[in-house]
Parts: sequence; structure tokens; C-alpha cells
Amino acid sequence: MTNESLHNRRAAAMARGQGALHPIYVDKALNAEIWDLEGNRFIDLGAGIAVNNTGHSHPRIQAAVQAQLERFSHTCLMVTPYESAVELAEKLNAIAPGNTPKKSIFVTTGAEAVENCVKIARSYTGRPGVIAFKGGFHGRTNLAMGLTGKVKPYKVGFGPFPGEIYHAPFPNMYHGVSVEESLRALDDLFVCEIEPNRVAAIIIEPVQGEGGFYHAPAEFLQALRQRCDEHGILLIVDEIQTGFGRTGKMFAIEYANVEPDLMTMAKGIAGGFPIAAVVGKAEIMDQPAPGGLGGTYGGSPIGCAAALVVLDIIEEEQLCERALQVGERLTGRLRQLQSRYPQRIGDVRNLGAMIAMELVVDGDVNRPDPELTAAVVSEAAKAGVILLSCGIRSNVIRFLPALTISDALIDESMDSLDACFSAL
Ligand code: PLP
Repeated sequence: MTNESLHNRRAAAMARGQGALHPIYVDKALNAEIWDLEGNRFIDLGAGIAVNNTGHSHPRIQAAVQAQLERFSHTCLMVTPYESAVELAEKLNAIAPGNTPKKSIFVTTGAEAVENCVKIARSYTGRPGVIAFKGGFHGRTNLAMGLTGKVKPYKVGFGPFPGEIYHAPFPNMYHGVSVEESLRALDDLFVCEIEPNRVAAIIIEPVQGEGGFYHAPAEFLQALRQRCDEHGILLIVDEIQTGFGRTGKMFAIEYANVEPDLMTMAKGIAGGFPIAAVVGKAEIMDQPAPGGLGGTYGGSPIGCAAALVVLDIIEEEQLCERALQVGERLTGRLRQLQSRYPQRIGDVRNLGAMIAMELVVDGDVNRPDPELTAAVVSEAAKAGVILLSCGIRSNVIRFLPALTISDALIDESMDSLDACFSAL
């Protein structure tokens, strides 16, 4: 079996809307490395889009899932529940930021977690409006797409989207949008488009993921909290890409010392087993009536078993601390590269191990270079390094390695990237 033959079968059998970035068909994956069916080995700097924070095929996660499978694989949490879900909820409630008592629900994907936050917020406040941010990403279901501010490719051709959703500018110093400007625009929105007493929630990613790895300054998040308190609006923090140690804290919102009303969690929560959660203030979470939330597979026993072990691994292997070291090492190497190619690399930035490199034309931050970005991603794959791109201008390469990656693999991947830049 070759990558090419499978890629041809894929093109014939699978719709192109669920595109594949790399024609690399996986045989096995271990920690931060992937091997394809042809025996080629890759250093994975994408970690399944920030899912495998604990590395591929972590033996403790595999063992926990296997043990669960031997007992039962599905009964439906809404019919005959099980202890692991209760224990996971207790643990997530305890680690969620802030001192207000929390409760949780479990679903299957990030987008579902987002949708459920909006349902809960509307149910609790009795208000329709939701404010999200330009450049933001919240998933591919209809409501999550409506909330998503990044238009291409996610929203093209898929409208109409649900109403009562408004978008405010995200503070982005790199692109000249200051905190003050963003707050002014939000206040204008309250005057011109929707009165604050009709807004159920504001939803924000503490670091925009798909939008380009832009970090919301702490003062902006604190000002959002203040406005929400002033107007009885709920603050939803989408930690789907930033959560579970990725940024050097368990959750990125901790950097701002802000307590959200509701939070989404997915991706890194269970090392690759599909489970997602909404965790929020207990009084708010308890508003919807029994049966109003959840789904057939929500909080599957496999996902719960994996997530419980992931929490232990993050603590015992000190992965928050490790995220900071990984971020520093990888960013240091990227900065060296930037000093050699200042015309091509406009910016290198990170929050822990959420690392980005922005590619531009002639060193001009206003001239994005999506073609070079695509070429670097493709050449790096040929050289054995899996990279992902992102950004509203498609000119950001993001680095999301497993937090368990070794220094040696970071260095090896950066040597390969260096060679790609020299060759391009
Ligand atoms: N929210 C954020 C911030 C994300 O990064 C993503 C996925 O990339 C989602 C929501 C959607 O998650 P899922 O793809 O699991 O539905």
C-alpha cells in the first residue's frame, strides 16, 4: 500500500470538503513521531491539532482505554451512567478557574461544547444575542459556524447562519487593533446593533487558534469580564485549542486571572478519544431541564477513562512546566531563523507551546505570503516534519507539538525547517 494509491482511493471515495492537508497515511504514531504505511518517519509538530498534548499512544492512556473496553464500551450517560463520568466532572470542576462552585456536562466534539454553552446561556439569561470575535473559530456546526469570525474556508457557501450573532474586533496588536479600540468597538456594538440587556453571552478564545495564534491581552479579558458583570451577560471562554497545559497553564484564561461563567473543553482533554465538556458555574449549568443537554455518545466511557488518565499525566509529568520549556526552545530556534530570513518571517510569537510564525513578503507585516506558507508546510512534510498552517490571511505556520516531545526532536525538526527555508 502506498500513500499515492490511498490518496487516489480517498479522492474517489471521500468528499473533498473533508480535505487532508498531507498525503501521508499513518501506520503508527508514538509520542511526537508518526510513521506512514511506506515506512517513512515524521516529527509531528501538529499533535492532531492540539489533541495529543500527552503524545501519541501514551501507554497509560492505551492501558486505561483497553481496561475500559474490557468492562463496557457504551451504555449512554443519559440512560445508565457510570462512575468515571462523575469522577471526571468532579475533577474538571475542581481545576476550572475561579472559586464559584462548578458543574459539567459531556458531549463529543468541540463544536457541540460551543453549541451547548450558547444553549445554556440563552436558557439562563432568557436573552437571544451572542457576541463573538472577528477572526475567531468555534467549529463547523451551523451555530458554531455562525459564531466563527474567520470566513474562509469555513463559512463559504454554508449560509444562512443563525441570527442574533454579532462580531466585535479582537484586539490584535500585531495588526494594529489595540485593546482600547476593540473595547470601543464593543461598546459601539451595544449602542448600534444590540442592546446589552439582549445579549446572553460573549464568547472568546483566549488565544485565537485557527485565526492565527493571537493572544488576547489580560486587560482586554478583564474588561470583558467587567462589561459582562455590568450587563448580566455570561462570559464563555473557548479553551478547546488552548486547554490542558498547552499554553503553560492548565487553561490560558488563568493568565488573565478571570473566572468565566462557562468554558468549553475538548481536544487535549483525552489524548485523542472523542469527548468534550462544558464546565461552568453550577447555578447557570443547572438552568436547562433534564434531557435538554447531552447526546447519545456524549461523555463516552472510553473518553472518560482516557481523560482521567490525561489529567494525571499532565500533573505527574509536569506538562504545564514542560509546555513553557518547549515553547522557549522552539521559539528560540524560530527567532534565529527569523534573523536569517527577516524578509520572509514577519513575526514569531508564542504562549507556552502554542507557537506561531507569520510569513510575509519583503518583511512587510501588511503583505501576507500564503503561497510561501503553503510551500513551507509542503516542503517540511517532504523533509519529515508535519506542520499546520492557520490565520485569517493563511500566512501563519503554527507549532503545536506534544508537550512530551524531547529537546532532540525539537532540534531535529528545526534543523529540517531551516533546510527548507534555504531551499525555497
Ligand atoms: N473552538 C476552537 C477554539 C477550536 O480550535 C476548535 C477546533 O479546532 C473548535 C472550537 C471545534 O472543535 P471540534 O473540531 O472538535 O468540533
